[in-house]
Parts: sequence; structure tokens; C-alpha cells
Amino acid sequence: MRSELDNVERLTLVGQMAAGITHEIRNPMAVVRGFLQLMREKSPDEMNSYYQIVMEELDRANSIINDFLSLAQSRISVKEKVLLDHIIEELSPLLWADANLRGQSVEVHLDPSLPRLHLNVREIKQLILNLGRNGMEAMGAKGVLTLETRRTLDKVELMVRDTGSGISEVQRKKLFVPFFTTKNQGTGLGLSLCLSIVERHNGTIIVESEEGVGTTFTVSFPYEEEAVEFIVVE
Ligand code: ADP
Ligand code: MG
Repeated sequence: MRSELDNVERLTLVGQMAAGITHEIRNPMAVVRGFLQLMREKSPDEMNSYYQIVMEELDRANSIINDFLSLAQSRISVKEKVLLDHIIEELSPLLWADANLRGQSVEVHLDPSLPRLHLNVREIKQLILNLGRNGMEAMGAKGVLTLETRRTLDKVELMVRDTGSGISEVQRKKLFVPFFTTKNQGTGLGLSLCLSIVERHNGTIIVESEEGVGTTFTVSFPYEEEAVEFIVVE
């Protein structure tokens, strides 16, 4: 799946999402309100389970607001010339810790010949974390998350691969639609955010998936070969 939206389309998207978020935030708020009412009438034991639900729903509302803000803020993207591999190396401990808690593992295969790219480091970290977390959430214990980089003639590719549930044909069409989620605690904004970050870097994102086998997201960043300086030794 290749998704390339121009600026006008993206603005419309954010506008549509502003309407969507009202709806999405109302759901957890209605749940919180309902359970608070019940808590007034119930025994301390029952209150405990209601408390759990109230907290989870509040967290969900909070995540939606956070993800939405990251997506809607059309800040000027500050880019530095950096190595994608360095960003991945910096993030690896975070991903490992997360995977460990789930009984999963993380493998990293970096291409040492990568050229430096103009990247907004904060955004690229967010991109990798979102794709990585989705991968982990799709896998059970013993699942393996693989991060790989590769240089081609005119692109740098980043692959995030999991051995998880895979994605059905029907769901694949909705992946980048804001608020599409199959998770109880999901916001459905993670991949929308990824797409907008990739676009701000003039890149593309594609997904390949097989149900019951796993999924690979491939992000491609274009790069131009730098003029090589020759040093003449006399
Ligand atoms: P969220 O993670 O909050 O649900 P995302 O936008 O990150 O929202 O993902 C949207 C949906 O796409 C997920 O709910 C899930 O159904 C599907 N998805 C995304 N990544 C994967 C993956 N690696 N494996 C299986 N399904 C995935
Ligand atoms: Mg997600």
C-alpha cells in the first residue's frame, strides 16, 4: 500500500480528525461517567474493578489527545543530517525492555554503508516506536521483532518486521485511516502519525503481511549521492 497525500489533502484529514476526536473522546468519558455513578452505590470490592475501568478509560482518552496533538501540530520540521542507524541504536534499549516484559525478543540488522539523511530525529524515533510497538502488540510470547536497514541505489529502507497475527486484506485497506483500531486500548492514530511523519520526509511506507505469519512495514527515504571529494596526493 502506497500512500501519498498532498498538503491540501492532509489539512482536510486533520479537519476530519478534529470531528472524529470529539466522538472518540466522548466514548471513554461516557464510560467514566457511568462507572462513577455506579461506584457511588456499590461495595468497596465492586468499586475496585470499576476503578480499574475508569482509570483505563481516562488513560485512553489521554492517549487519543496526545497522539492527535502530535499529528495535528504542523510545526516546521527541523531536520539534521544524521545516520538512521544511530537513531535505531539509541532506541534499541527501550524496545528491548518493552519486548522483555512480553517474553519477546528484538533483533537489529543495520547496514553499515548507510548515507546520512536529513531527518527530524524526534519524529523518526516516534515512527520507529509506533511501528515497533504495533509489531509487539500483534505477537504473543516468543515473538520476534526485527528492525533492519538497507541501502539501495537511491533509497534508504527501514524494515520493521514481526512474527505476529498478520493483517487481513480487509483491515489492510483501513490501516492508515485515523481512529481505525482493533485493540481495546488502541487509539487508531499510531499509523496515521507514522504516515504523516514519512510524508514530511518525502518517503513512502508500504506494508506486506500474511495472516498467522507476520507483518513487515517498509519505510523508504530518498537520498541523493553526495559529490565525492577527491584528494590529490602529489
Ligand atoms: P492502534 O495501535 O492504537 O490500534 P495504529 O494506527 O497503530 O492504532 O494501528 C491500527 C491498527 O492496525 C491496529 O489496531 C491493528 O489492527 C493494525 N496493525 C497495525 N500494525 C500491525 C501489525 N504489525 N500487525 C498486525 N496488525 C497491525
Ligand atoms: Mg499503534
